[in-house]
Amino acid sequence: MPNAQKHSVLLKVEQLSKTFPSGVSALNSVSFEVRQGDFIVVLGKSGSGKSTLLRCVNRLVEPTSGKIVFQEQDVAKLPPKFLRQARRKIGFVFQDYNLVNRSSVISNVLSGRLGYTNSLASLINHFSDEDKLRALENLGRVDIAQKAYDRADTLSGGQRQRVGVARALMQEPVLILADEPVSSLDPSLARSILGILKKINENDKTAIICNLHQPELAKEFANRILVLEEGQLVFDGTPDELGESFNEGIYKN
Ligand code: ADP
Ligand code: MG
Repeated sequence: MPNAQKHSVLLKVEQLSKTFPSGVSALNSVSFEVRQGDFIVVLGKSGSGKSTLLRCVNRLVEPTSGKIVFQEQDVAKLPPKFLRQARRKIGFVFQDYNLVNRSSVISNVLSGRLGYTNSLASLINHFSDEDKLRALENLGRVDIAQKAYDRADTLSGGQRQRVGVARALMQEPVLILADEPVSSLDPSLARSILGILKKINENDKTAIICNLHQPELAKEFANRILVLEEGQLVFDGTPDELGESFNEGIYKN
């Protein structure tokens, strides 16, 4: 059943809660599913739990309770070796790009490959010609191949985030988590970065979960929208279902 497979459930988050040692309850029994090919935008005002949610999915943050099932494996129960394998299939795009400024663009992109190289090779930063070709190819996909040998700190914000996306692509991810990837960019640059993610989503069927705080961008790019309010999932539906009324709801106070 190739068709059923295409849209199979990739990630299942079940009653996920996170309370930090400080006592802050960042997530409260959040449940949802992500299918292959989904472009999900998580909306919510600052402090609503968006970053914690993404960090729990790839276990940068340890959930307090609940389940995260990725490709039918309970991530919480995976031994380190298998956790590394699962993480490898999940790319992360950061709000502040997280590039090594003094390194070239292509070195930054190649670092996305580290999970794949053997540990000695990665220690001495040795990459195969095939990896280098792949890095150039991925820079081409984000339209910035001509900058491959420039230092990362010579790039503009929009260009840096393109590099961030190319680096995530090096993992050949089946899921990309993007935590407010466009919050430092003006609206037209924001749209161009989200457009790149959308193209990857459509061409490769890579699922995307992208945190944003702009409802209008969510409606433009997502096929499903989740809204978090104080750690609770208060909406899970299509952009149409979100309607107009919610726009204010997200930002009340
Ligand atoms: P968002 O990304 O939507 O702004 P976060 O997930 O960063 O929200 O934060 C949700 C809540 O958890 C906030 O109250 C925040 O202060 C708190 N929080 C986030 N990370 C930590 C942490 N490492 N330690 C303690 N509290 C945290
Ligand atoms: Mg955040």
